[in-house]
Amino acid sequence: MKAIVKISRTRGASYRDVEVPEIKKDELLIRVTAASIGPGDLAIHNSAGPDCAAPALPFIFGQEFCGEVVEIGSLAKGFEKGDFISVESHIFCGVCGQCRNDQRHICQNLRVIGRDVPGGLAEYAAVPARCSWKHTDDSLKDIGAIMEPFGSSVHAVLADDLVGRTVLISGCAPQGLFAAAIAKAGGAKRVIALDPSDYRRRLAVKMGACTAIDPSAGNCLAKITKVCGPEGVDAVIEMSGGARAVELGLKALRPGGRFVAFGLPVTNLSLDYAGDIVKRGIRLEGVAGREIFRSWYKMESLLKSGAVNPRPALTHRFSFKDFSKAFALINSKEQKCGKIILTP
Ligand SMILES: [Zn+2]
Repeated sequence: MKAIVKISRTRGASYRDVEVPEIKKDELLIRVTAASIGPGDLAIHNSAGPDCAAPALPFIFGQEFCGEVVEIGSLAKGFEKGDFISVESHIFCGVCGQCRNDQRHICQNLRVIGRDVPGGLAEYAAVPARCSWKHTDDSLKDIGAIMEPFGSSVHAVLADDLVGRTVLISGCAPQGLFAAAIAKAGGAKRVIALDPSDYRRRLAVKMGACTAIDPSAGNCLAKITKVCGPEGVDAVIEMSGGARAVELGLKALRPGGRFVAFGLPVTNLSLDYAGDIVKRGIRLEGVAGREIFRSWYKMESLLKSGAVNPRPALTHRFSFKDFSKAFALINSKEQKCGKIILTP
């Protein structure tokens, strides 16, 4: 089969022939119909030298994908050949303390498909049956690849009641774009988006933001309070991981507000912990991955009812063999793209 493979500790990857994976008893073999590119994939593609993010070489990456079941392990119950599935990339152990407390997404023994074990940027992929979400019909087939990132946004946004609230979405990469639409559908009074890319700000408005602000243009806090009022926003969904964005988000948040920490900073942050968080009664919540499978039920409902339409954020499609064009677009300074779908 063909796959997108990290073959050396240099930036980039290679499109080449590899063996079709053999499945274990608790796994499914799926014929991948689509994959989307996420931050984890970008990290592996762009990494090089001693910082190479692939666990071993060669390595097939890809954390966001969907496909059709073609082979079923003897212990993989509840699936039939031809089932259409989307993949939950977090492989949970099922027996640790977090797993037993309904927190499988932060399992103590967590492994991630496409980061720790081979992923879905390939014609076929082996996935544990317990990480497979079976679609009940074909209505989400065109967006099956984005369920994983979309679910993270659902988790980040809907962990608390947003009805009548003002929400600041900091960072309009695809998960921020999804978050804008989910917040709107969740009853938010106003959704304010922040991103330096003009292209992504326009997309954010299309997805439901009432206004989109360029944080690099200056006077950002004043522009935010002009929309939400001097008291500040009720919730910040911080999806950029930028140090200045975190600082700005905390300043924009009203006392007692909720700060969702989702974006991953590349360096340690310096915060006025006492002044910005403790004394202002901020509720700080780290969000990683999706609640398994609570977030999946929520997203199925949001998508099938039409309450959220993520499709305007899916801006480009390329075939696997043209993967370099997709990564170049995401890596470009202008970032004139939303979610990019790759197909075999
Ligand atoms: Zn566990």
